[in-house]
Amino acid sequence: MSPASTPSVVLGDRFARELPELARPWQAERVDDPRLLVLNEPLAGELGLDPDWLRSPQGLRLLVGNVVPAGARPVAQAYAGHQFGGYTPRLGDGRALLLGELTDDGGFPRDLHLKGSGRTPFARGGDGLAAVGPMLREYVVSEAMHALGIPTTRSLAVVATGRAVQRETPLPGAVLARVAGSHLRVGSFVFARATDDLDLLRRLADHAISRHYPYAAEADRPYLALYEAVVHAQAALIARWMLVGFVHGVMNTDNMTISGETIDYGPCAFLEAYDPATVYSSIDHQGRYAYGNQPAVGEWNLARLAESLLPLLHDDEQQAVALAVETLGGFRGQYLAVWNAGMRTKLGLYAAPDDVVTPLVEELLRLMHQSQVDHTSLYRDLATLARGDAAPVRSRFLDLAAFEAWSARWLSLSPDPDAMDRANPVYIPRNELLEQALSAATQGDLAPLAPLLDAVTRPFEPRPGLEAHAAPASADFVHYQTFCGT
Ligand code: AMP
Ligand code: MG
Repeated sequence: MSPASTPSVVLGDRFARELPELARPWQAERVDDPRLLVLNEPLAGELGLDPDWLRSPQGLRLLVGNVVPAGARPVAQAYAGHQFGGYTPRLGDGRALLLGELTDDGGFPRDLHLKGSGRTPFARGGDGLAAVGPMLREYVVSEAMHALGIPTTRSLAVVATGRAVQRETPLPGAVLARVAGSHLRVGSFVFARATDDLDLLRRLADHAISRHYPYAAEADRPYLALYEAVVHAQAALIARWMLVGFVHGVMNTDNMTISGETIDYGPCAFLEAYDPATVYSSIDHQGRYAYGNQPAVGEWNLARLAESLLPLLHDDEQQAVALAVETLGGFRGQYLAVWNAGMRTKLGLYAAPDDVVTPLVEELLRLMHQSQVDHTSLYRDLATLARGDAAPVRSRFLDLAAFEAWSARWLSLSPDPDAMDRANPVYIPRNELLEQALSAATQGDLAPLAPLLDAVTRPFEPRPGLEAHAAPASADFVHYQTFCGT
């Protein structure tokens, strides 16, 4: 490893300095033949990184962790996790590294992090590596989420390593460069609490407050204010997942952030045919992380966060529990407030009273479920109906009489189709097209990736040539399965 020749990249080591117990200094595995697959130029710009330099041999070496700017101290982060409900005390970055913190053009700290950069002390049985397909999946889906206005970690680049990664078959390897407000997770707190080191727990909470919720420091009970802020951020985040039909797929406590950003795009996928029981992940046999279970799982994870924070909430444990229970009790109402407002917007309704809108939404979801209606295109077709053309939407429902009764009620409320089009995307990463683009990229053909990224990074503007990205799933893809990125 050598210092970067460019003086322009400055990485901080605040996490490593303030929380050494959670940071194992480590270095990325050597990559002999890095090749850039995709670079996020707008994001590079936000971070003050020169895209031309990032494309240079030295830039690529930074993007795989083989060159470390002076002053930076890459670390593997320690955290615990409840995986499918089962507690694992020591997970941590098994194949990832925090290179350090950058400051973005808004003045906010952002982590620069690598995934697939080689084994770390947390690798357990894993090889520390990642394949091209799953890293591009994270790139595409996280950038789609960002374009949909949903808080998420971002993807700066995917660099092929030229090295084979052994999975069921050998696959080309890659490293993802990821950017996040931070990589603090619910599992970071679970880990810190399990050490019984109250000073560490307090430093972690102070670090989280200072990075994400600085106003909490001014509250009467700063750590309770931190907990309230995370509950609120996650309630709002999961409501927004539900509104766009995002299925995370592996909502373990190590994959839930303190910042309220979506993180760890593994077996995730977007809902196509509407069904709350939809599960895409091949390993989620019980449907724990089904689309419709996500709010309840979020709440369960936040209870694990509360358990970890208890010693900071109050000296008296019973009072600490009471404070945590009361705060978590706000989750459902906060979730529903964001979700209800979002459904109103999706349906172009402003003024109608709740007792009219709520049953209307319930009946629509029942009809969508019954007819397995495509979750994304439906709302655009409804806007078309509001403009006077019923043909596209009528073909989607099996029980046409029931749909017509519903639409008469809805139209009587004068929905605003332009507002609907601003809220309802035309393009999401369609499972079949995403799968095709990833398998082509795995074979070395990057051509299908470009139109896919073009579609999903400007999701609200219909454009000629991208029709396939707006079309409902073909019958073969209704029972689609995703596989973990490991
Ligand atoms: P994930 O389900 O991707 O969030 O990963 C869960 C845990 O497994 C984390 O601690 C990862 O760092 C670790 N992990 C996943 N894949 C690998 C791998 N190929 N090598 C080492 N550790 C891994
Ligand atoms: Mg993870």
